[in-house]
Amino acid sequence: MSGEVMPVAEAKLPVTDWGLTHSDITYDVAHVWEGRFFRLDDYLHRFEESVDKCRLDIKQSRDDIRQILHQIVARSGLQHAYVSFVASRGQPATPGSRDPRDCVNHFYAWCVPFVWVFTEEMVKRGVRIHIPQHLHRIGESSVDPTAKNYHWGDFTQGLIDARDAGFDNTVLIDAKGSVTEGPGFNIFMIVKGQVITPCSGVLRGITRKVTMEICAELGMDVIERDINLAELLSADEVFATTTGGGVIPITRINDRIFSNNVAGEQSLLLQNTYWKWHQNPTMSESINYSP
Ligand code: PLP
Repeated sequence: MSGEVMPVAEAKLPVTDWGLTHSDITYDVAHVWEGRFFRLDDYLHRFEESVDKCRLDIKQSRDDIRQILHQIVARSGLQHAYVSFVASRGQPATPGSRDPRDCVNHFYAWCVPFVWVFTEEMVKRGVRIHIPQHLHRIGESSVDPTAKNYHWGDFTQGLIDARDAGFDNTVLIDAKGSVTEGPGFNIFMIVKGQVITPCSGVLRGITRKVTMEICAELGMDVIERDINLAELLSADEVFATTTGGGVIPITRINDRIFSNNVAGEQSLLLQNTYWKWHQNPTMSESINYSP
C-alpha cells in the first residue's frame, strides 16, 4: 500500500474511502500454485478492463502491477497464494465533495495463503448448491458483472440462506429466470456431451475461459447461452469454475442429485486437465523468492 510492503494485518484504509462507503472499487484475484502465477496476463488484462469500465484512474502500468504482485508473493514466501489487486475510488480531494471525479483513486494489492471456495470436505462428500426462487442477481444494467466488484449484497443473502438450509453455496438466477453465477464462481452444465455456460449477467471468469480452452483441446463442444433453472436441473453434469479451486463438480442443486451424488466423469476430466495445465511453462511464470 502506498508503495510499501507490509504484513496484511497492518494494511489500513481510511474509513472515508469510497471503496468502503460506496463499494466503489474494482479488483481482481490471481493465484500462485507451486511457486508460479497461472495465466497472470489474463488476470491483468481483465483488471485493466475493469478499471476502465469503472472510470478509475490508477498510476500503475501493467508491468508495475506485475512486478508488485511478484514482489508481495516473494516477500510472503507463499508457494500457494490468493493474490488480490484492487483499484479504489479513494477520498475526494475536496473534503465533503460528492463528485466521484474529485476522488483520488488508488491501487493496492495483498496476498494470503491459497483460498479454496469449496472446502476439501465439501468436495469429498459432494458439493451442494442452493438456488433460491425469489432472490435475484442484481441486473447487469445496474451493476456490470464483467467488472469484478464488491456488490455482494445479493450473494451474501443467498449464502446465508443456503447455509441455513444445509447447503454449501448459492447460485442466483436473474429477474428473467436465467441462471447467472455464484459468489466467486461461474457455472457450467453438460448435456449430451455438450458443455454449456451462461453468456450474460456473469463475470468472464478466467477459469471459465481456461475451461473453454480445455474443452476445445479435448474436442468437447462449448456453447455460451442463457440457461434456465429447469434446464440446469435436468443436465447430466454441473460444475463450477473458480480461481479458488479450479473446476469443481457439483453433485446436488436444491432437491436434484446428479450422477448418484458423485462427481461427473466429464467434469473430473476437465478438473484433471486444469491442474495439468499448471505444469505447462507457457501458461505460468515463476516467482523469484530469493532476496
Ligand atoms: N463470478 C464471480 C462473481 C466471481 O467473483 C468470480 C471470482 O471471484 C468468478 C465468477 C470466477 O472467476 P475466476 O475464474 O476468474 O476466478
